[in-house]
Amino acid sequence: MNKNILLVNPWIYDFTAYDLWMKPLGLLYLASHLKNSGYRVSLLDCMDRYHPFMPPPDHPGPKRLRSMGCGGYYRENIPKPIQFFSIPRYWSRFGIPWERVKQQLKEMKPPEWVFITGTMTYWYPGQIAFLKCVRQIWNNTRVIIGGWYPTLCLEHARQWGFDRIVEGVDPLQVIKQLCSDFKELSSIENYQHFFSVKPAFDLYKKLNYTIVLTSIGCPFRCTYCASGRYFPEFWRRPWKQVLDEIIYDYQNYGVQDLAFYDDALLYRAEESFLPLLRALQKERLPLRFHLPNSIHARYVTPEIAKLMRKCNFKTIRISLEFSDASSQKNTGNKVDNSIFEKAIQSFIQAGYAPEELEVYLLFGLPGLKEKDYEFSIEYVTDLGLRPRLSLFSPLPGTPDFERVNTLQIKDEPLLQNKIAYLYLSEQNELYEALQRKISKYTFFHKCDK
Ligand code: SF4
Repeated sequence: MNKNILLVNPWIYDFTAYDLWMKPLGLLYLASHLKNSGYRVSLLDCMDRYHPFMPPPDHPGPKRLRSMGCGGYYRENIPKPIQFFSIPRYWSRFGIPWERVKQQLKEMKPPEWVFITGTMTYWYPGQIAFLKCVRQIWNNTRVIIGGWYPTLCLEHARQWGFDRIVEGVDPLQVIKQLCSDFKELSSIENYQHFFSVKPAFDLYKKLNYTIVLTSIGCPFRCTYCASGRYFPEFWRRPWKQVLDEIIYDYQNYGVQDLAFYDDALLYRAEESFLPLLRALQKERLPLRFHLPNSIHARYVTPEIAKLMRKCNFKTIRISLEFSDASSQKNTGNKVDNSIFEKAIQSFIQAGYAPEELEVYLLFGLPGLKEKDYEFSIEYVTDLGLRPRLSLFSPLPGTPDFERVNTLQIKDEPLLQNKIAYLYLSEQNELYEALQRKISKYTFFHKCDK
């Protein structure tokens, strides 16, 4: 057999992008399984900030984030798509420069297959650009596309001439579709088997953080989120396996920072996350842990908060979204104010300073008014916390996507971009005014102390 497969994490095309512990984890699991099945696997991560072809960024980002493994991407401003002409922001291709990627492909032995993944639906130009690159250089290479874009926008993805389209992001669904071309994968029939390997971080020359996933799925169905809907069930890895992986990453890659990618890390914590925390406390590894996906306030207990503090969890994000009870209820009921306050209290009692807790409020959801945002901001700042506005992005397959009917977002995934949506739904001025208000509140709070 010995077929060559090139796995690709393509460029990001967007107004903004920043490496906040971003790695193509699903692709790295697939890489390990393909390697174990006898394929020759290589990785081209166009977003690898330590790739030898990656120039330094113009804006490396805040020192604090850089000290924890994050950083800015190199960007090239490019002509905007026609849909974005009215948006007063630069449109860029982030990642390794196009010509350098082409040069690298020309130097490679042509692979039999190229598999291109993708995160956001509206980043599809990166997947299409890479397909074009492959077609220009290699005649007989077949190209597969996967990730959220073909999953949520299948009809749109069919127009580009990919040789195979993988629909779905659940690992078993992906493996099932790949089996027709990669028969050796057919033995992977359950999550236990899929997660029995370590993600192939060894394909990177240099790493300053790694990613861990302890579970897949989410028990909630928030009206604006696609995550929970695309995994048939909630499933959790045995905590000892996760602990082994963390120790392995520390010993083999020398990383100091590690981010959890779970959507519901604390759900049923007594089965997995709590024993993992207790074991991590005993191990005393000099690691910092980060939670770029928010955690559920509902499942925070004083014990969890205390152990997280002891184990050096540095980045803690909690999504409140809105302080208004009916909005909380109507969008999925994942939190209410009393649950949120208890969670904050647990973290404060565990020794976290209020400014270490990142509280997210959702901006831009159809139907929300200026007053709703003001109440939410006041509520959070009155608790001594700094709110952060996260922008709503209309995602196909979610109830809130159906409620956005003023734009052609069903026909054009580019319009699902959160910054594009902010401007095209004419909410940018309100957003900027609220941001100013938040800065003012925070300034006064600091002065009060
Ligand atoms: S709780 Fe989080 S991951 Fe789960 S559905 Fe809601 S927003 Fe998505």
